[in-house]
Amino acid sequence: MIARQLGRSVVLIERGTHPRVVIGESSTPLSNLLLEELTERYDLPALRPLAKWGSWQRAFPDVACGLKRGFTFYRHRLGSQPAPDPARQDQLLVAASPRDEIADTHWYRADFDHLLVQEAQKLGVDYLDRVALHAITGIPGEPTLEGTRDGQEITVRAKFVVDATGPRGFLYRALQQEERALPGFPATQALYSHFTGVRRLADTPFHRTNDVPPYPIDDAAVHHVFDGGWIWVLRFNNGVTSAGVAATDRIAAELRFTDGEDAWQRLLHRIPALQAQFAGARAVQPFTHMPRLSFRAAAFAGPRWAMLPSAAGFVDPLLSTGFPLTLLGVERLAAVLEQDWGADTFEARLQSYAARTDREMLATGRLITALYATMNNFPVFAALSLLYFAAASYSEAARRLRKPHLASSFLLCERLVFGPACVRLFDRAQQPMTDSESAQLVSEILSTIEPVNVAGLGRLSRRNWYPVEASDLLESAHKLEATEQELLAMLACCGFTEAQP
Ligand SMILES: Cc1cc2nc3c(=O)[nH]c(=O)nc-3n(C[C@H](O)[C@H](O)[C@H](O)COP(=O)(O)OP(=O)(O)OC[C@H]3O[C@@H](n4cnc5c(N)ncnc54)[C@H](O)[C@@H]3O)c2cc1C
Repeated sequence: MIARQLGRSVVLIERGTHPRVVIGESSTPLSNLLLEELTERYDLPALRPLAKWGSWQRAFPDVACGLKRGFTFYRHRLGSQPAPDPARQDQLLVAASPRDEIADTHWYRADFDHLLVQEAQKLGVDYLDRVALHAITGIPGEPTLEGTRDGQEITVRAKFVVDATGPRGFLYRALQQEERALPGFPATQALYSHFTGVRRLADTPFHRTNDVPPYPIDDAAVHHVFDGGWIWVLRFNNGVTSAGVAATDRIAAELRFTDGEDAWQRLLHRIPALQAQFAGARAVQPFTHMPRLSFRAAAFAGPRWAMLPSAAGFVDPLLSTGFPLTLLGVERLAAVLEQDWGADTFEARLQSYAARTDREMLATGRLITALYATMNNFPVFAALSLLYFAAASYSEAARRLRKPHLASSFLLCERLVFGPACVRLFDRAQQPMTDSESAQLVSEILSTIEPVNVAGLGRLSRRNWYPVEASDLLESAHKLEATEQELLAMLACCGFTEAQP
């Protein structure tokens, strides 16, 4: 759609047909902000309502999605009954929005992607589905895609090819690329499906508390963390719930992920809270087993082609980093098409896009490697997660204040002091630790986030439940090089402050 708006003629090639179910569903404040910015910059008003729950419900009531008010984490010990947790040591709730109207969403991709394709066609994009591509030729000159459709040979000649076919996708295969490692990242697998009849966790005996959480715990990306893996539960507003597990090869072998649904039942059996939640659930899609989750292509761009970040690599669904990484890539590629098309700078800008995408993927890999290493040490896991939440909320605020230079890299990985400090902390988190070393590491993590902490993260009085409070942001004005007035104007502009009737 952006390429069309920039005056290019565009052909969109799809192997399957829409609507179709794919995984990758949970958005974040940063992904929605990027989506909103792209719709404004490239004049795509039809898509803008998709950036918030409230406007989505009004504009597209028939396009299913889920309400995501925050990130919910619970720690479990496989095979054990949950212990009472009055001090909230085995949980972490991080709100992402103060109310439903401006909340994030889980994208029910069958509906969402179908809508995007229809909107693209309205803008004049030629859409070819059911295409089996065999080869790309003509590189480094004019790329030519060769394939078949309905038994007929087809050839598409282009001036530029963007590969959006996901990990281990078309160009990776057609160019016979090597796969590169994500240094230190454990080998992980996934098993997942869509379900109906999943109860709300808040309605099960697991959720025993008189405290009022910062948002309803199920209206979130819910993570259940255990030694060696984690489970996601995402509720949509059409009665469907997405759930699955990502885990190390050790856990996948122990539970025999290759058995599909039986492995899922074995896992639920070892987590009583989830067994209660899924007692009446039924899978409405066949289970998918991904024998390898992570991926990193050898080259992300070349003469007249580029992979989106989602085709160039993937780490893990933990913390929903896929969409923001991809949307940052879309933003950068769009800028190259807009500013450098036909200029001598084109190739160099593409290579710079590729290098930044790789640096951000590696930074994401380091964070998630450290999280996997500490899934059996929840205080450190929770503190490391706060590094992500601090960087994400700071980046969101900086962009909303039109100060993108303060947060130009994902996870602030290129920010002086903060970026290298994170690398050291992630390395340390992977070493064996005594309790006192863990406490020391948590304290250093909290000191590291302080210069970018605009959300009151890590305050002991909050006991691992973090609401979104305007006062936290206002107190942090200096960290964003902003005045209190600028922040108040920003909060009003993004709908934080509810309009009076
Ligand atoms: C288990 C799992 C959970 C995830 N959860 C999240 C999450 O909660 N939040 C998040 O931000 N990210 C998540 N991700 C990452 C997320 O899936 C991706 O960032 C996102 O799907 C990228 O969208 P995409 O449209 O670029 O690619 P995809 O969703 O991979 O879609 C690729 C499209 O290309 C088509 N295609 C493939 N090969 C060809 C071919 N040869 N020719 C033509 N067409 C082809 C496919 O049919 C498909 O339509 C998750 C990933 C996994 C594996």
